Amino acid sequence: NPFSEKIEEPPINDEFKLVRSSDKRRVKGALISLCRNEEAKQIASSVRQVEEKFNSKFKYPWIFFNDEEFSEFFKATVSRATDAETRFIKIDSIDWEEPEHINMAKAEEAWQKLADKGVQYSKMKSYHRMCRWFSGKIFTNPALDDVDYYWRVEPKTSFYCNIDYDVFAYMKDKKKIYGFNINLFDSPYTVETLLPTTLEFLDQHRDYLHDNNSFSWSVHKKSPKNNDIAHGYSTCHFWTNFEIVDVKFFRSKEYQELFEHLDKAGGFFYERWGDAPVRSLALSILADREQIHWFRDIGYTHDPYSNCPNSDKCVCEAGSFASPSLDDQNCMNHWLRVAGTSWD
Ligand code: GDP
Ligand code: MN
Repeated sequence: NPFSEKIEEPPINDEFKLVRSSDKRRVKGALISLCRNEEAKQIASSVRQVEEKFNSKFKYPWIFFNDEEFSEFFKATVSRATDAETRFIKIDSIDWEEPEHINMAKAEEAWQKLADKGVQYSKMKSYHRMCRWFSGKIFTNPALDDVDYYWRVEPKTSFYCNIDYDVFAYMKDKKKIYGFNINLFDSPYTVETLLPTTLEFLDQHRDYLHDNNSFSWSVHKKSPKNNDIAHGYSTCHFWTNFEIVDVKFFRSKEYQELFEHLDKAGGFFYERWGDAPVRSLALSILADREQIHWFRDIGYTHDPYSNCPNSDKCVCEAGSFASPSLDDQNCMNHWLRVAGTSWD
């Protein structure tokens, strides 16, 4: 079985990365988070951990986004968790709310059907809005005008490893455009027409397909989830609650046009397209697979999945992924087989 057969990993070696990070903060990087006022304590806990493991050495600014005005309590609580600069941004409703062409009665009918199939969050309008915003609107937010790379951080996450090198400088030096640390299958009901809609776009822009793409990761025939429901999409995706991103790639004409095409089709509301499968499919088509990097050295948990390397810089259980009942949700082996394994 190509999905479960383990691939042997060499030990972590970050020595060459350390040399490069001696010249601190030469990259326009930022730590970013979208969160709600009620999540002040939870995001402050994530911020503290990222500070302890990484950012206290580099002092990149934090940018917090919210569709509402941040409360004084939120601002005070997260500011106490970092010595770095903090910025608090309210998202314009035009970027957050569903576009005019969305028929809400039709959407709500679809949400009921998804809920009947047990799809999580399907009836939460805010969740659909969040997924759409992260898929496209975040990249053109003026708060990121002077940001070339961001690291996304969520509430209720844990970080286990000391990161002694500058991850943003690493991205830039190695010309990486996307960094992930968990690779998963998705619920096919949330993305029934995402692949056909993406292919419709590609059909109009054949030249956007990168010569060294990783598209076969998205359409693998033997994927356990590659069935009629998702119309051939393997549902493999990078789990975006952790990501380190080259913002220029996602602001590019190619990606933004793809987002517009998807947005017009309406699947953020008529289905429950997540920003993770949207980004992942786009990357597998538009990007050079060698520019996508597994940050296996960043030990991490967002319930119920983890990434934990075998390294004395970490305090988690090496190789842990999920409880046994969820072990079959891991798509990493498939990714490594498609993309090749350049471990550094
Ligand atoms: P899950 O990880 O898929 O279970 O979804 P989360 O509830 O963690 O949401 C993803 C991210 O978006 C988290 O950082 C949330 O704090 C944030 N988020 C989700 N919905 C909203 C919302 O309606 N408003 C704001 N401001 N943030 C949201
Ligand atoms: Mn989350």
